[in-house]
Amino acid sequence: MINLYELDRAGFESLLKEWGQPAFRANQVWEWVFTKRAQSFDEMTNLPKALRERLTAETRLGVLEVAAEQSSKDGTVKRLYKLADGQLIESVLMPYDDDRRTACISTQAGCAMGCVFCATGQMGFARHLTAAEIFEQAMRYSRLLESEGDRLSNIVLMGMGEPFHNYDATVAAIRRLMDELGIGARHITVSTVGLVPQIKRFADEGLQVRLAISLHAATDEERSALLPVNKRWPLAELIAACHEYIKKTGRRVTFEWTAIAGQNDTLEQAHALGNLLRGMLCHVNIIPLNPTGGYGGDPAAFDRINRFVATLTEYGVQATVRVRRGIDIAAGCGQLKSTVLRPEKIPVVE
Ligand code: SAH
Ligand code: SF4
Repeated sequence: MINLYELDRAGFESLLKEWGQPAFRANQVWEWVFTKRAQSFDEMTNLPKALRERLTAETRLGVLEVAAEQSSKDGTVKRLYKLADGQLIESVLMPYDDDRRTACISTQAGCAMGCVFCATGQMGFARHLTAAEIFEQAMRYSRLLESEGDRLSNIVLMGMGEPFHNYDATVAAIRRLMDELGIGARHITVSTVGLVPQIKRFADEGLQVRLAISLHAATDEERSALLPVNKRWPLAELIAACHEYIKKTGRRVTFEWTAIAGQNDTLEQAHALGNLLRGMLCHVNIIPLNPTGGYGGDPAAFDRINRFVATLTEYGVQATVRVRRGIDIAAGCGQLKSTVLRPEKIPVVE
């Protein structure tokens, strides 16, 4: 079966031409699939019945199957999706008190980066998602909100997986989120663990998308202990790539800092971070550690976080603390994993 979300305009045109349809049909079907976000072919009332039947028989509107759904006390919704090959991924919808409706979507089933405090990292890597699988997660929430007279306003690529490890599919998905879901580039954020070559590549894409970098420590020893990727691209190279990105794009970078008691909430780390980021067009986003099964650390206490933020201010570095969301349903940062698949069944290929 052809997944219509996998096709671009040229793909629609050649498929319908192959089926002996007049040229204007490609545009009609495209409109139903992407602009009107149809859920079934029956809705496509301006198409001939025979064409609708052929579409039903030979194509499909996406591949994601909801395997489980949970709602948090704070309104956060977490969905577990089953992919066509049985892999499982999660995505989250976070309605904020203001008008923002943010979808947090996955780019891989599992993750190969092995960050010690992250539930996805603890699972290992299963496979990359296709651009269509990434796109469809947001499409599904968009549809849900539109059926309630609301709309999806923001997307963060901060679910399972490392977006820049799956670079081409991620960038293709971002373009489709902008073009087909109508989400403004400035309302899309991609977060990377710090893959230096891809940060450089991303600077040349000409996208106005926001870039977030998972930093978490300001010295190589501390960072390598938390994020194995730091051994491959240490801080000096990462920060140089960030400077290059800012210079090329004129865009501010966000640094994410998962605050762990006694690890990276110290004055030492605050001063090191202040020195590292002084004078840079950036912002630090502090996320108190969320609990995961495979890591024993505790979230930093609020007085320590306040002290940390105050120290950064001395260096002219701005920092804010991210509101925790969906913790009661394990939908917070770093808590996503496919609970249904047993971890040992997921092959670690890298
Ligand atoms: N792979 C990408 C994006 C997904 S994770 C990345 O690592 O940047 C989104 C953010 O949540 C990252 O900054 C990540 O380091 C952080 N995170 C991971 N585990 C966490 C946890 N247990 N508590 C809080 N934040 C966590
Ligand atoms: Fe992968 Fe990001 Fe988790 Fe690290 S924090 S293991 S890069 S998803």
